[in-house]
Amino acid sequence: MTLEIKDLHVEVEGTEIIKGVSLTFHSGKIHALMGPNGSGKSTLANALMGHPKYKITSGKVLLDGKDLTHEKTHLRAKAGLFLSFQYPTEISGVTIGSFLRTAYNTIHEKQLNVVEFHALLKEKMSLLNMDSSFSRRHLNEGLSGGEKKKTEMLQLIVLQPRYALLDETDSGLDVDSIKIVAEGIQQARKLRPAMSLIVITHYNRFLEYLMPDEVSIIQQGKIVAQGSYELAKKIEQRGFT
Ligand code: ADP
Ligand code: MG
Repeated sequence: MTLEIKDLHVEVEGTEIIKGVSLTFHSGKIHALMGPNGSGKSTLANALMGHPKYKITSGKVLLDGKDLTHEKTHLRAKAGLFLSFQYPTEISGVTIGSFLRTAYNTIHEKQLNVVEFHALLKEKMSLLNMDSSFSRRHLNEGLSGGEKKKTEMLQLIVLQPRYALLDETDSGLDVDSIKIVAEGIQQARKLRPAMSLIVITHYNRFLEYLMPDEVSIIQQGKIVAQGSYELAKKIEQRGFT
């Protein structure tokens, strides 16, 4: 089972940002994607999820062989793709609980009513050390940077996608929260061992807890190096150059 990207080219507002990226993400594995600021990491993630601003001009995206290159975003989500945003959007008037239940019921066959979902949500929130009253807050409204990232991870743990792209989930989190979130992710993997994680990050601390199986480095829209976790450690010591 794989998420395969073949010679992908992506344009943002007429400028080519991703210039022929090929990558394969394996089910059950953690793949770290690292690279300096502006190298195209978020562009790649958004293009994979089908964000209309990020235009795939050539190449292919295949999820377990199914061509998703030009599929609508909600169908990508149904097929098992998930993106946690670098900058989560605030949506007032929608509680975290009702948002998550709607999302859950949209992608799962088995529908959960309010009571059933509440029980599931409470259990998942405790994995992330979140107070259950948090589910009544409005989506990301007035939340701190760290709380927004934790809410993104709650989505991951509730939805249990097959391929999850985590864009700078660790940025904005304090040291304790990084550990809690990483442990929450490990718990989610135990519940769904086939889950594949694509972790976009600058820093090694998050990776120390997650121990990626593979590491790829992107620079100016191209993959310039690939290796094991050792590669991430080297970058921490020596920088990207
Ligand atoms: P990274 O996530 O690696 O820091 P990005 O993918 O955010 O990099 O950005 C790569 C390049 O694409 C940058 O030069 C950035 O200015 C440009 N870019 C990304 N998103 C947009 C956008 N929505 N509109 C205009 N330019 C964008
Ligand atoms: Mg980014």
